Amino acid sequence: MKRIALLGATGSIGRQALEVIEAHPELELVAAASGSQPIDGLAPLTQVGGDLTELLERAEPDLVLNAVVGFAGLPATLWALEHGVELALANKESLVVAGDLALEARRRGGGRLIPVDSEHSAAFQCLEGRAPESIDTLVLTASGGPFRGRTRDELEDVTPEEALAHPTWSMGPKITVDSATLANKGLELIEAHFLFALPYERIEVVVHPASIVHALVRLRDGAALAHLGYPDMRVPISYALTYPERAATPIPPLDLASGVTLEFHAPDLETFSLLSLAREAGERGGTYPCAFNAANEVAVAAFLDGQLWFLGIADVVADALAAADGGAARDLDDLVEADAQARRLAERGLPVA
Ligand code: NAD
Ligand code: MG
Repeated sequence: MKRIALLGATGSIGRQALEVIEAHPELELVAAASGSQPIDGLAPLTQVGGDLTELLERAEPDLVLNAVVGFAGLPATLWALEHGVELALANKESLVVAGDLALEARRRGGGRLIPVDSEHSAAFQCLEGRAPESIDTLVLTASGGPFRGRTRDELEDVTPEEALAHPTWSMGPKITVDSATLANKGLELIEAHFLFALPYERIEVVVHPASIVHALVRLRDGAALAHLGYPDMRVPISYALTYPERAATPIPPLDLASGVTLEFHAPDLETFSLLSLAREAGERGGTYPCAFNAANEVAVAAFLDGQLWFLGIADVVADALAAADGGAARDLDDLVEADAQARRLAERGLPVA
């Protein structure tokens, strides 16, 4: 039996995780948490809002699936890593903001960290057991989102409804907007840097509209290994929850004869500048990734709220990053402070209502 604590149980990942847990008698849900929606009776221990580490202390899980959205997921990530409790990580924001601290906590705790993000789950599988010196580059694929191929002019008056209509994935609102701006791929770039100990110049992003190839690893001998599958998050969720067994899922095997086309092209970094801003923030290090994330969270919320136009998201983040201190990230307090500062800067950058 694997005792599972599911954080973010009411979200897109959370609901799919419940399905996976239900299908496997050896997975036992011992605790569940949400941000504000009621979840009475979902698990022996439940919590709505509040300090998630208190729930984890009581639940004593074997595995934490962190599917909270945003910076709010950080304490739970650090708790699991510090305590050596296996962490299935969907909450990419926590690794982005606290990469070095999280990896130090994992070294001390000695537990496993299995990514749930589809690209990182794919990369993890392509990289597993391989000598670091045999790796040339990692390629992360991006669907390009609903606005792929548009110019800046064509993005001036897009609405939240249009941004929320993702062509290949059905996800929570924040990550769906991030996919439309390519900020999501920027967060994923930083996430991959920390997860796989690769310098930024050896991680490439390509647009692949079909979302069939999730990641590709180029090896030094000229070979490249790719991970393919239909875009369905139950696959990486199941992989992380049943690792290393790799249990069966209801997702059909890939049908190549039905006409799978593998098309790739370079991202349009001028139109979707959040990807470049994330790369810069990652390369600068310290609390810059935290500031990027915080400003982006504020800007996305303002866009969804009708306060900010779509292209304004990148402007708000760029201005907040330019004004941020970007000091060292030595502990959780440094991050909480950097997060709060970037939120203030971003809020100041929003248009006056
Ligand atoms: P969502 O908005 O659908 O769900 C978020 C969940 O987090 C909800 O259960 C909500 O109640 C909970 N939550 C929010 N604030 C909280 C708080 N302060 N304390 C406790 N719980 C809180 O989001 P999602 O799409 O499921 O994404 C969750 C995470 O997984 C994000 O970090 C996202 O980037 C990542 N992710 C999602 C997908 C996907 O397909 N949805 C794919 C890859 C990665
Ligand atoms: Mg992803």
